[in-house]
Amino acid sequence: MAPNSTKPRLLTGDRPTGRLHLGHYVGSLANRVQLQHSYESFFIIADLHTLTTRPEAQSIRDIPLYIREIVLDYLAVGIDPQVSTIFIQSAIQETYQLNLILEMLVSVSRLERLPTLKDMARDAHLDSMPFGLLGYPVLQAVDILLPRARVVPVGKDNQAHVELARELARRFNNLYGETFPEPEALIGDVPTLIGTDGQHKMSKSLGNAIYLSDDAATVETKIMGMYTDPTRLRASDPGTVIGNPVFEYHDAFNPDKTEVDDLKERYRAGKVGDVEVKKRLTKAINIFLDPFRERRVYYNAHPKIAQDVLTQGIRRMQFEAHETMEIVRAMTGLSYSSEMFADEIDLFGEYDG
Ligand code: ATP
Ligand code: MG
Repeated sequence: MAPNSTKPRLLTGDRPTGRLHLGHYVGSLANRVQLQHSYESFFIIADLHTLTTRPEAQSIRDIPLYIREIVLDYLAVGIDPQVSTIFIQSAIQETYQLNLILEMLVSVSRLERLPTLKDMARDAHLDSMPFGLLGYPVLQAVDILLPRARVVPVGKDNQAHVELARELARRFNNLYGETFPEPEALIGDVPTLIGTDGQHKMSKSLGNAIYLSDDAATVETKIMGMYTDPTRLRASDPGTVIGNPVFEYHDAFNPDKTEVDDLKERYRAGKVGDVEVKKRLTKAINIFLDPFRERRVYYNAHPKIAQDVLTQGIRRMQFEAHETMEIVRAMTGLSYSSEMFADEIDLFGEYDG
């Protein structure tokens, strides 16, 4: 993709903490696949973000494995490397530079008001808040602003972070002059997909996920073990459809709406058992995942493609990040270099001893 395309930009991504799941698909991946031709798209594998909760050397050693899985997931769902840029966050040196500048433009109390960060600290069993975890959404704003993205397809849990990125863009522009477009979150069709436990959002770190790379038998085992309506003891008891994760999945992944409506009606009337509802769901989800599985087999057999995608993607993003930081340096006036002193700058005036 030519660096001088006039299409508006899109950026979003994932932390390399595990394989991608159905929640990622409905929350963000579906929009990415759909919009990649109308926006110039950048997909970031945010490895530096994993350090906010897991900075240990062993965790860093696990990252390449997950990077590999996530690139394959991207390609499998239909992200087209001919039009989209896939890159690794830590390969972009300007990320560290812009992060420091944006950190100056937000208060600690503003960051402390974001509930997501406390949840993340708790889920990671941290007894105190690392400085970098508090800065998680600032680093995310850096990711979004470096390619000067306008649209950020994310799940609901990330909406407040994109809002902060907007504020940071606005504040930077007010202080130093118009530089960044104000990015907007684009929430997926299912803003938050519930996990198979029916308790928490589907998440790679909670063991309640159906992965895009799960085989048909694994999908079946996970669905047959799913939480449904806990008050219903027999198939002849009237069941609840609203808030029942099995029906939420039917709504999200079963394209046969007549079948879904019929199942719901019979479930409410106590005329169908959980087993049948789950069997039909298993079938629908496996049909949904089949094209991804096929493409994954192809890319697994041609590893050079994924390798090239990252090489090209990192180069492309390095180019964009370099351009943006040149603008940032010019706008802020923080543009010193040794060459400047050697050649042209006259900081000391007519100093003559
Ligand atoms: P972790 O447990 O490591 O936080 P995660 O499963 O929450 O992993 P992230 O990498 O944090 O995944 O999220 C990547 C993107 O997918 C974000 O845009 C997020 O909003 C979206 N997303 C994640 N889980 C869901 C879900 N259950 N429903 C909808 N969107 C989701
Ligand atoms: Mg998350």
